[in-house]
Amino acid sequence: MTDIDGNAVAADIRSGVAECVETLQAEGVDPALATVLMSDDPASETYVSMKQNDCEEVGIDGIHVDVDDDAPAEELYDTIDELNADDGVHGILVQLPVPDHVDTERVLRSIDPAKDVDGFHPENVGRLVGGNARFKPCTPHGIQRLLAAADVDPEGKEAVVVGRSDIVGKPIANLLFGRGPGGNATTTVCHSRTDDLASHTRRADIVVAAAGIPEFITADMVSEGTTVIDVGINRVERDGESTLVGDVDYEAVSEKAGAITPVPGGVGPMTRAMLLYNTVKAAAEQHDVDVDLP
Ligand code: NAD
Repeated sequence: MTDIDGNAVAADIRSGVAECVETLQAEGVDPALATVLMSDDPASETYVSMKQNDCEEVGIDGIHVDVDDDAPAEELYDTIDELNADDGVHGILVQLPVPDHVDTERVLRSIDPAKDVDGFHPENVGRLVGGNARFKPCTPHGIQRLLAAADVDPEGKEAVVVGRSDIVGKPIANLLFGRGPGGNATTTVCHSRTDDLASHTRRADIVVAAAGIPEFITADMVSEGTTVIDVGINRVERDGESTLVGDVDYEAVSEKAGAITPVPGGVGPMTRAMLLYNTVKAAAEQHDVDVDLP
C-alpha cells in the first residue's frame, strides 16, 4: 500500500508557484489574492488566515477584507464590486458560508469570472463541464494531481465518487470522466439516495470519498488494490480528545487499498496549494505574461 503524501505533492506545487510569482514580478506584476470574510465562525477565520499565510509563503500579496456578519448584504456585494474593479487584485475568494441574509448564488455570480480562483462562478462551472476549464476548483484539481503523483492514470478505470456537492463531488466527477490527462475514467457518482453504495465502491478502481461522514467507507466496501482518495475532514471526540478523521476508516481500508490519502496530510494541503496555483494563473492571464505553471 502506498500512502499518498499530500504535503509533499503540495510542497512541489507551492515551489513551482513561487517561481511563477518571480516571473510575474520580473514583468512588473505583483500577484494578489483578496480574501473576503463575512462570518465570525472560528473555523472560517482559521481557513482564511491559513490562505493568507500560504500566499505570503510563495510571495503572493494577500489582501484581506472583513465584512461585519450582521452588515447589510449590499456591503458584501459592494466589496466584491470594488475588488473586481481593482487591477491590482487578481484573485477573489469569498469564504463560504456567508450569513443567511446574504444570497450565496448572487455572491458567486458577482465575482469577475477572470478573478474567480475558487472556480464557482456559473461561467467557470460551465466551462469545466464543457471540458474547457479556466480555473479547476481547488479540491478536485488537487485530487487529480494526487492521482498523477501516485501514478494512477484514471483512463479506462472505474471511478466512484461518493458525494455530489458543487464544490467536490460534481466537479471531481467531471474531471475524472472528462477528456484528457487525469480524466477518461468511467465514473459513477453516488449520493445520499444511492441504493447499496458498497456494490458501487467495491467494483471501483478509484474511490473518492466526499460524504462528510466520519470513517464511512469501511474495508468491506473496497476491493484489494483500490486507490482511495479521502476528502472528508471531520472533527470527532476520541478518548475524550478532539481529533480529525476522514470519510474513510483509514486503519482498516489501508490494509486493502493499493494507495490511499491520509487525513490530515492528503487532500487538504492540495486544496490550499491549488488556490495559489489558480491565483498565479489568474494574474498571468490578466497581464498576458507567460508563466510555467507547475
Ligand atoms: P456536502 O455536505 O456538501 O456533501 C456531502 C455529499 O455526500 C452530498 O452530496 C450527499 O448526497 C452525500 N452523502 C451524504 N450521505 C451519504 C450516504 N449515506 N451515502 C452516499 N452519499 C452520501 O459536503 P462537501 O462540501 O462535498 O464536503 C464533503 C467532505 O469533504 C466534508 O467532510 C468536508 O469537510 C470535506 N472537504 C474537504 C476539503 C479538503 O480540502 N480536504 C475540501 C472540501 C470539503
